[in-house]
Amino acid sequence: MRALTFEYKGIAGSELAAANAIAKRACVLEHRIVRLPDLRESADIPGFRPSGLPPSYIPLRNGIFYAFAASFAEETGAINIIGGHNKDDTEVFADVRPEFFDSLQKAFRGGSRILRTNSLKIVRPLERMRKPAVIRLGATLGVPFELTWSCHRDSEEHCWSCDGCLARERCFREAGIVDPLAPPKMEKIT
Ligand SMILES: [Zn+2]
Repeated sequence: MRALTFEYKGIAGSELAAANAIAKRACVLEHRIVRLPDLRESADIPGFRPSGLPPSYIPLRNGIFYAFAASFAEETGAINIIGGHNKDDTEVFADVRPEFFDSLQKAFRGGSRILRTNSLKIVRPLERMRKPAVIRLGATLGVPFELTWSCHRDSEEHCWSCDGCLARERCFREAGIVDPLAPPKMEKIT
């Protein structure tokens, strides 16, 4: 298994460090970091405020990310591209819905003899699960939650006040799992 991380403009350094740590723990064959310095979140694009989407949305990000993943698959002979999108994501973002991935898969096979021969599949094992269920599954599988990163701010520790941190706290609480990164006062709540 190989892993891809995208370093777009403004990504938290701590998020990149977490991706590196998790890839190392998972003993992937290769962890490739694709640098896309011109790709930005909506919040960093003057005058771009699409309705119904959070400020962290990157315009058509999965069209871009999966094109890189398909190129990586062609280069390495991979037969699956695995995406970690969950049910909460599919209700907000059009570029994680099944019909979008079906179209992409068809386009990739159509545009590459290697991917067509390998019957490349875009696999989304978490697509029907909400975030608390994903956390419960992770606990069952021994996922090192202490290595993960959810904060939108670039700091040494989670801030526990941004959208990413608040969602993480809520989802761990709903999952009934103690977050190893939660500050002491939150451990009492759970
Ligand atoms: Zn935060």
